[in-house]
Amino acid sequence: MNKTTNLYAADALAGKVAVVTGGSSGIGLATADLLLAAGAAVAICGRNPERLNEAAQQLIDKHGAERIYAAPCDVLDTKSTQDFAKAVEEKLGSVSMLINNAGQGRVSTFADTTDEAWIEELNLKFFSIINPTRAFLPQLKEQAKKFGDAAVVCTNSLLARQPEPHMVATSAARAGILNLVRSLATEFAPDGVRVNGILVGLIDSAQWRRRYENRENKAQSWEQWSNQLALEKKIPMSRLGEPLEAAQAILFLASPLASYTTGSHIDISGGHSRHA
Ligand code: NDP
Repeated sequence: MNKTTNLYAADALAGKVAVVTGGSSGIGLATADLLLAAGAAVAICGRNPERLNEAAQQLIDKHGAERIYAAPCDVLDTKSTQDFAKAVEEKLGSVSMLINNAGQGRVSTFADTTDEAWIEELNLKFFSIINPTRAFLPQLKEQAKKFGDAAVVCTNSLLARQPEPHMVATSAARAGILNLVRSLATEFAPDGVRVNGILVGLIDSAQWRRRYENRENKAQSWEQWSNQLALEKKIPMSRLGEPLEAAQAILFLASPLASYTTGSHIDISGGHSRHA
């Protein structure tokens, strides 16, 4: 396993509040952990309350309870997302970093994607950004006005630039998000709110662990299965990425370290990207 270190100073984000949607697992949980380690107060949400509580407890054990708030919220539910935004402000204060990370991919070709599946996928990819961004925007603007910087970071996929035929709807939706991030960045720039994204390749998290559980050859270990996957996908770095490796890029874009960066995307794919 690749060793990575948090190089951000322990109190660099002290006094700031961050929200991580889909913070109960994988990239979101690693991002919440990193933001807490850098001194921020962090709110996380997910739909499954058990998984959320487990994740919150893990974070509390490591960082203490004072700077952590966790509440179930489906980001596709407008009212629930608005309520979550109000609750976060009450519990932790006004948010200056919003990480739109909640979601999952859909494996289907054009031939086997129904109209309902297309609508569901486009709805997930777009409204998992639209709803939280709308709900937290007043807080982000207020923080940017006070302190000169606030940020939205979206977890996007390399599929946005490099579509795969077996993930046709996800790829198309991801490409739309690339465009949305740029539009929001332009619209919010006068208010001091930056908007960026990361393009992840294959990152070890619940999605891949689920596919591993359903593998044909049950004798294969995770290392053997994931290394074979990396080989099949021709990933130059010959391995999947770790959630922390995606989280580090998110932390950079969310923090004032990226104060002159907006409308951009960082590639986290171990060299898998073939786009210019
Ligand atoms: P995980 O499955 O580990 O985490 C997904 C998180 O999102 C969970 O906390 C999940 O909790 C939450 N979530 C899903 N839907 C909703 C919803 N409607 N409302 C609120 N929370 C939700 O996956 P990853 O860490 O891998 O994924 C993070 C992001 O990265 C996703 O958007 C994913 O599509 C994207 N991505 C990941 C890749 C990878 O290789 N890992 C590749 C490309 C993109 P719950 O289910 O309880 O709601």
